[in-house]
Amino acid sequence: MITGPGLLFVVSGPSGAGKDTLVEGLREHRPSLRYSVSATTRAPRPEERDGEHYFFVSSADFERLRRDGGLLEWREYNGNLYGTPRDYIERSLTEGYDVIMKPEVNGALAVKVGYPDAVLIFLVPDRFSNLRERLLARRTETNEEIARRLEIAQQEMKFIRRFDYIVVNAQDRPQEAVRDLEAILQAERFRIHRYPDDSIRRVESS
Ligand code: 5GP
Repeated sequence: MITGPGLLFVVSGPSGAGKDTLVEGLREHRPSLRYSVSATTRAPRPEERDGEHYFFVSSADFERLRRDGGLLEWREYNGNLYGTPRDYIERSLTEGYDVIMKPEVNGALAVKVGYPDAVLIFLVPDRFSNLRERLLARRTETNEEIARRLEIAQQEMKFIRRFDYIVVNAQDRPQEAVRDLEAILQAERFRIHRYPDDSIRRVESS
């Protein structure tokens, strides 16, 4: 049997592009895919649960985690800190599980430095103006926060060429974007450089 370490998929893109919805949709199709829960100092939204959507931590706890090397990457975003716990990802990949995470754009690029094999996917709306509509519709941010997120989004769009894939999340058709994400996951699994050398040699001599 050909096996190897798991793959790390990084779904990024501006706030409001639909990362949460699409990653959730993808996980329903692929229950074995592990999701990396981030730590944040942001206050929970009403529907968010600790340990499921985020690990909601104090600034002091976040700082301790960061100082002890417990974070794979971390960033300040709109006045709050967000970071990816290292242990869970390392353990899951070693055990052969694929892992998905959804940091903002700078965090995604930082992951690629530590894990050059990570697959970076940039999620975009079909029109930039849809970002604003989505942020307004979810009613979780104030108008000022939305304006700030849109400013950040404009900056984030400049990094699109540093990613491996672009997926367009068309308004009202999220299932198409989920299908595209699945296609990427599927194809990446078969890339020749993913296979351990001894597996290839066994295939060659069989
Ligand atoms: P939100 O407050 O909307 O949940 O997240 C704000 C931004 O932070 C989003 O773009 C989200 O993808 C990003 N984010 C969430 N977790 C992490 C993380 O662990 N690291 C980084 N760099 N960004 C994160």
